[in-house]
Amino acid sequence: MELESNRNSSVLTDPAPTSKSRLGIHSSLYSPPNVVFSPGLFLKIQKKKPLTVDDVRSNSWLEAMKSSSPTHRKKAKDCASELVLTDTDVAYRNWMLTYPSALASFERITNYAKGKRIALFLDYDGTLSPIVDNPDCAFMSNAMRIAVRNVAKYFPTAIISGRSRDKVYEFVGLTELYYAGSHGMDIMGPVRPFSNDHVNCIRSTDKQDKEVNLFQPASEFLPMIDEVFRSLVDSTKEIKGAKVENNKFCVSVHYRNVDEKHWTTIAQCVHKTLKDYPRLRLTHGRKVLEIRPVLDWNKGKAVEFLLESLGLTNCDDVLPIYVGDDRTDEDAFKVLREGNLGYGILVSSAPKESNALYSLRDPSEVMEFLKSLVAWKKPSSL
Ligand SMILES: [Mg+2]
Repeated sequence: MELESNRNSSVLTDPAPTSKSRLGIHSSLYSPPNVVFSPGLFLKIQKKKPLTVDDVRSNSWLEAMKSSSPTHRKKAKDCASELVLTDTDVAYRNWMLTYPSALASFERITNYAKGKRIALFLDYDGTLSPIVDNPDCAFMSNAMRIAVRNVAKYFPTAIISGRSRDKVYEFVGLTELYYAGSHGMDIMGPVRPFSNDHVNCIRSTDKQDKEVNLFQPASEFLPMIDEVFRSLVDSTKEIKGAKVENNKFCVSVHYRNVDEKHWTTIAQCVHKTLKDYPRLRLTHGRKVLEIRPVLDWNKGKAVEFLLESLGLTNCDDVLPIYVGDDRTDEDAFKVLREGNLGYGILVSSAPKESNALYSLRDPSEVMEFLKSLVAWKKPSSL
């Protein structure tokens, strides 16, 4: 499920529906009644429905590729540009009135979390690791690895990524976590007595031979995804900088390193391939086109599944926190927000509309947040 609206909307005029939340958040924190915004600071954010092949056919893909892939801020070369940068910074600060910093709001978060069991869900790319030109080199720092390891000592922690589960495990390398790859379509979670009633859920063992539950709702798509992967590798091989990644239950076509004048060609390759596979659909990430099964499954469903696997559903004393940076993370934010279940934290250095409640600017702030959680929990657990 993607963001529902397809309109142009101001990020500053869509306050979070928090007034009835059981999370104890004052709605005024998100939509302060007396704040007046300069019209020039309202940013127009393009929100998209999930793209169908028809959408692609009607050439909306190029616009979508651009809107999903903001270019880096250019350095100011003159006074006029500097003024724009200042406005951008002010716009970010104003945006944070709607999506407050999880660091600045840490006391509020932990006040609510007192006596509750926090369950932590973390995206990988752009959340724990920086976005880099070569997706194979999206390594997380050792400092971040230590922070994640420490936080997992106190809270059940899962990584939910668009990458293949094996790939993200390779990057993170921590056995104490739960891993969900392929946007939640490949989950390795704990064994629970009654968690086997899901179709496609099988008992397996992890790399340490520990018994686990393996949930792969898209397993029937494996041959199809593999076929599409090979087809796209072949059709994009002449496009300089294009990289096709097999994420097991989805295929990613990265165009981060492709000259913008060739983005059309990339989209045409994907379109041409997709039209032979009506059971697959296209979604947009940050400079990546993703081909996924048409399946009612996403990162939000993965969070629900993992909470259930961990025995943490229907408990008033559980507080799930999800940290992510991309459009696919919105499904998880939405599940937490609409169910009044927990906190979504959007990682973004630019204003954007989100179902998250809080924000962090970049992975370094994510690391600070994780460290703060450990420091908060440590004394009370000793
Ligand atoms: Mg991400």
